[in-house]
This record gives sequence, structure tokens and C-alpha cells, in this order.
Amino acid sequence: MVIIASNFKTNHTRASTKEFISFVNEYLNNEKDVEVMVFPTATSLDNYKINSNLTIGAQNAYCVNSGSFTGEIGTQQLDEFGIKTILIGHSERRHILGESQEEIAKKYAFYKELGYKIVYCIGEPLEVKEQGLEATLEYIYEQFVGIDTTYADLVLAYEPVWAIGTGVTATNEDIKSVHSAIKSKINKPLLYGGSVKVDNVAQICSLDGVDGALIGTASWVKEDFVQILKNIKGL
Ligand code: PEP
Repeated sequence: MVIIASNFKTNHTRASTKEFISFVNEYLNNEKDVEVMVFPTATSLDNYKINSNLTIGAQNAYCVNSGSFTGEIGTQQLDEFGIKTILIGHSERRHILGESQEEIAKKYAFYKELGYKIVYCIGEPLEVKEQGLEATLEYIYEQFVGIDTTYADLVLAYEPVWAIGTGVTATNEDIKSVHSAIKSKINKPLLYGGSVKVDNVAQICSLDGVDGALIGTASWVKEDFVQILKNIKGL
């Protein structure tokens, strides 16, 4: 089954998130062949009424139940809304918020232990991509250090940093070569992310080794997101 995930990043209010979720849930009522995840901001997590293949996840949380970690949320806050899905290792957290591989691995182990579905992101920056496939894969494999890739509820997302939010989608050849290399080592669903758009989502999701897409910018307008879901129908 194709997996499509929407990462809101720092976008949408509580009101617009609610509208988005109810719009997507309604569309998915009659669509059973796609698994959809939406990652709103922490302030927009709530007890949404969902009766479809739609799951709400957290973009981030600290590896703690509760405590003194100013600015962070833990499982006490996630439990309030029944959140059991989390995004870990997103490049914006690695590169802008400065999360190290060690911190990411600690977070991964914590949420794995609690049985969360984990969407784990990996991907290389432009200067690494420019060094070729071997360097790219070497960089990506470093992002698996400390990560149990045999974990049952793991979904991977290959997101080249240079393609995220830039409008520059990786070429089919780039995607296929990285995905097949990762797939040969790790037998888990593998999404592609990085400037996936309404018009290219179907073609990307039909590539060998691509099990779906993690989408930022193009997913934020609810009608566009539903169009994305319509475009991958039947794959
Ligand atoms: C992302 O944030 O995971 C992402 C892929 O963003 P965009 O679709 O905007 O490139």
C-alpha cells in the first residue's frame, strides 16, 4: 500500500489544521488503498475524530515522559491525544536545530521501546551529493548509526537535503539508485521526500523501490493534498 505523509513543519493554526484533517478524513472514508500520515505542529495536536486510514503524528518530541525540558513535549503530552507516530531525524532538525546522530539515536530508541510508529528520515546535503553516489551512500549509512533498522514499526524516508523546500526534485535516476541501495540493506517501506508536487507524485511513487512520499510544501493546502491522494490512486 502506498504511504503518503504530510509534514506541516511550522505551518497552520489549530483551526486550519482541524479543517485540513476533517477534509482529508472525509476523502479517505472511501479510499482504503492508501495509508496517510499528517504531522501537524505540536500546538495543533488534538483528539480529532478520525475514521479512515489517516494517522496523526508528532513532528518531534523529547525522549521523556515529562520533566524540566523547556520548550519540549514528551509522551505525557502525546498520550493526551493518543499520538503513537513520530517523525525522527528530519534534516531541518539535524541541520537547523542541531540534533546530533547521538541524540537522534537516543530519541529513536526511546520511542521504539514505547512501540511508536517511527518515520525515520535520512538524506545528504548538496556538497555530499556532488561527490557522487558512493559518498552519498556513505553519508546516509552514517545516519543509521545507533538505529535499530529491524524495528517492526519503522518507515524510512529518503529526503535529499538539497531537494527539501527548494522546488528541485531529485531525478528518477537519483531516487532509484539511492532507494535500491538502501533497500538492499534494509527491508522497510521507503518514502521519497524533497519537492514532491501534485504533478510529480504519481510518477515518483511508481518508481522501483519507492513506497510513497513524505511531502512538505505541496501538501499544506488541503485541496492539493487530496489531489495528491487522488493522483496516486491505483498505484
Ligand atoms: C519535508 O519537509 O519533509 C519535505 C519533503 O519538504 P518539501 O516537500 O517542501 O520539500
